[in-house]
Amino acid sequence: MGQIAALRCVSCGSEYGPDQIEYTCPACGPRRGTLEVRYDYDRLRSELTRDSFARAGLASMWRYLPLLPITDETSIQPLRVGWTPTYRYPEFASELGLSALYVKDDGQNPTASYKDRASSLVVIKAQEKNMPVVTCASTGNAASSLAGFAAATPLETIIFVPERAPEAKVAQLLVYGARVFLVRGSYDVAYDLAAEAAEAFGWYNRSAAVNPNLVEGKKTGALELAEQLDWNPPDVVLVSVGDGSVISGICKGFAELQSIGLIERTPEVIGVQAEGSAPIADSFARFDGGEVAIEDVEASTIADSICVGAPRDIVKAVTYVHANGGRFVTVSDAAILGAIVELARRTGVFAEPAGAAAFAGLRKLVTAGDLAGKSAAVMITGSGLKDVASARRAIGEPAIIDPTLAAIEEHL
Ligand SMILES: *Cc1c(COP(=O)(O)O)cnc(C)c1O
Ligand SMILES: [Zn+2]
Repeated sequence: MGQIAALRCVSCGSEYGPDQIEYTCPACGPRRGTLEVRYDYDRLRSELTRDSFARAGLASMWRYLPLLPITDETSIQPLRVGWTPTYRYPEFASELGLSALYVKDDGQNPTASYKDRASSLVVIKAQEKNMPVVTCASTGNAASSLAGFAAATPLETIIFVPERAPEAKVAQLLVYGARVFLVRGSYDVAYDLAAEAAEAFGWYNRSAAVNPNLVEGKKTGALELAEQLDWNPPDVVLVSVGDGSVISGICKGFAELQSIGLIERTPEVIGVQAEGSAPIADSFARFDGGEVAIEDVEASTIADSICVGAPRDIVKAVTYVHANGGRFVTVSDAAILGAIVELARRTGVFAEPAGAAAFAGLRKLVTAGDLAGKSAAVMITGSGLKDVASARRAIGEPAIIDPTLAAIEEHL
């Protein structure tokens, strides 16, 4: 089990003891003062080998327990989270001018999104801390994931989602037994309300970025990708970006593997944002190593999971991607809809819009000749069944026929 050495503020660098502070650096405030979990990397380097994780024998993200901030293993949920498949497509890769194409399908998590990696961990943390109520604001996936992982525990779950969250995500919440508030307003508004409520009523807050344990769960996708590719991660890894926590986790995962000597080089991590919701990409374009610019926008995109105008993990995302040597790219909603269809037809993986956005980013860079000869992995962060209405906007209508052979022939 990973013993937290310190919690370090990503803005001012102040270090706190693991029990000294819950959420963010008091000196820098909730927006800039997000915390990074630090371990004793010298000890990990001497204790861990490439075989350590397989020896644990767990086909889940819990094979990485030595790199996770968990002290009480007994409250790990039975739901299998992580160790999602990484598929290879040699022919499609060569058509795209890539040396290899990998698709990691995180839609196969228990509640069908990447968020399960973080929620499973936070549910354990809440119980460790004897917090009976967990809350979160979410565009939908973080919430349904929290509700799913809390369902079989004594925890009560209270959720704030925007009124227009996709139906499947709201259905998941209700089925799992969460108390759900549909907030009149955007995700950004719901986020502030959840933070206020958590403070006022003493609930444990799982909202993006505020809780440093979330990125720890989210880094496991990178650990898995490296291990599943025999510790030779690809040249580039693409992932879609809303609040910036998933990409921060992926950068941190690769950086930690490198610093403990398990991989030789880290892939270039490429964040993909929707054109109508790209404040992190904009800030990154202006970043010169000094203070991260924070300029919120009125977000609008079909990809609801990355429709975030006030990204809460912007400081981490910008500084981590900069340290990684990575970059950001933006894609239109039309490209995202096209990517849902192309990805499904060429790989068999059906992604929700925010998942397909990562593939749209790959498509854009391939078309620009930016990735020629490289190996690339695309993180599919959510299942297409999460948002069927958007998928149907990308495709035609099926024929409705009389039950006769003649009617079939008419359409063939
Ligand atoms: C949350 C989410 C993202 C983006 O993660 P952030 O941490 O908000 O950047 C991408 N895709 C899906 C499906 C998500 O649910
Ligand atoms: Zn600080």
